[in-house]
Amino acid sequence: MPKIADKLKRVKDSIAAACSRAGREPSEIKLVVVTKSAEIAGIEEVIRLGCTDLGENRVQQLKKVAAQVDEFLAKAPANSNLPKKINWHMIGHLQRNKVRQLLPIVSMIHSIDTLRLAEEINSEAALLKISPPVLLQVNTSMEMQKFGIPVGAAIHLSEQIATLANLKLSGIMTMAPLTRDTSIIRQCFVRAKELFAEIKGEGIAGSQFNELSMGMSSDYEIAVEEGATILRIGSAIFTG
Ligand SMILES: *Cc1c(COP(=O)(O)O)cnc(C)c1O
Repeated sequence: MPKIADKLKRVKDSIAAACSRAGREPSEIKLVVVTKSAEIAGIEEVIRLGCTDLGENRVQQLKKVAAQVDEFLAKAPANSNLPKKINWHMIGHLQRNKVRQLLPIVSMIHSIDTLRLAEEINSEAALLKISPPVLLQVNTSMEMQKFGIPVGAAIHLSEQIATLANLKLSGIMTMAPLTRDTSIIRQCFVRAKELFAEIKGEGIAGSQFNELSMGMSSDYEIAVEEGATILRIGSAIFTG
């Protein structure tokens, strides 16, 4: 099996190639390394290789791994080139009763799909005197997904979320279905891009509304071609 460093390089090379096909710059795109399938040694390795944004889809796992990573960074010698801090991204379905423990450690929440969840995050954030960036998770593949707000309801929800003072509505997130049919995947990403442009164009969310989080191991090149600004990639780096 190839080493993590080689797989990471392969992913970055493919991102660069997709960027040049689309007339984009790799610097426009943030890579969130999804660690749910990784061991701590592998996570330490991607950090040594310069990755500063990591993602998990479960709160318990995010807390556990973030603590392990903190310990790793605290033990590193002062002259190491390791980052001081990792940005943690919550990318999976979030239950309201987990918000309080998540907020102090997370940099961005990608999975807002109800007003009640947004309101819960807003009131907990107010207590902590923070305004975390959040993304609206949109279901762009209709019946094929369990989570995410339907495209047709997303404008209204974004208007409601934009009124919450302790949230920074910063963009939208979507997942394409697992299929070999790349035209279906591309359609989902195009829908997300159009919705993103509409919310931005109507000025609903403010100037921080800049992120389009889409693209995983099996489809990130298509996502780059369709305008993704954040990729969430796990297995292409840690397995296979
Ligand atoms: C697991 C996961 C990813 C990464 O998936 P890979 O196929 O391992 O790259 C991205 N986004 C979400 C929401 C996930 O749960």
